[in-house]
Amino acid sequence: MSKSESSFIGIFGGTFDPIHYGHLRIAEEVVETIGLREMRFTPAGMPRLRYAPIASPQHRAAMVQAAIRNNPRFVLDERETHRPGTSYSVESLRELRQEMGENITLCFVMGADAFMKLAEWHSWRELFRLCHIIIAARPGHVLATDHDVLPQELKEECTQRWVSSASGLECASSGLIYVAPTTPLDISATAIRTRISAKSSVRYLLPDAVLDYIEMNHLYSGKE
Ligand code: ATP
Repeated sequence: MSKSESSFIGIFGGTFDPIHYGHLRIAEEVVETIGLREMRFTPAGMPRLRYAPIASPQHRAAMVQAAIRNNPRFVLDERETHRPGTSYSVESLRELRQEMGENITLCFVMGADAFMKLAEWHSWRELFRLCHIIIAARPGHVLATDHDVLPQELKEECTQRWVSSASGLECASSGLIYVAPTTPLDISATAIRTRISAKSSVRYLLPDAVLDYIEMNHLYSGKE
């Protein structure tokens, strides 16, 4: 099956404050490994489980748009930045499921650090009814496949859900978990913001188009 006919759609939620090559490389590799038709980058408006983002939702969405411009499989999905109040991934997945119908398989992508905290998410068990979960290893964070280190509740919910190959995801339309092979890149938005405010270079940690946008709009320099 060619990718354009694939019924698998990726969703990559995040603060993207700013988007960087850690995000982009994971997205590219997951698209390729699973054969996704598209990857939808969904910047959170106001995330619940962390401090407020530094850049506005509009700036963060614009940076995602600048970063993905040349990749026809990457799509910006602005539903969470347009929605008032706290961003809940489960709401976006419910909406996508309704919009796209039951024949689509949604694959929600997250780093190992985010997965470890999944049981703190709003209506987290419902995620398994709506999508598969695709995990990317992240340097400095325990690998999610080390099941012994998972919080008890999460470990119990996930026991029967792990699949060891991308083709295993075809066994069901939701509810499976796959750790995708991805290139470990020790890049974080926090480190990028810190470097910018210290006037250090962040070139090659994120696309030039995003860096140009940051400079043009004086983001993260303490002047915004
Ligand atoms: P911050 O440093 O501000 O917390 P971040 O770099 O973690 O930001 P987010 O936008 O919060 O970026 O991350 C969105 C998603 O991407 C999360 O699921 C996170 O785990 C994952 N992610 C971000 N950077 C990486 C990376 N370098 N490797 C693997 N996963 C990553």
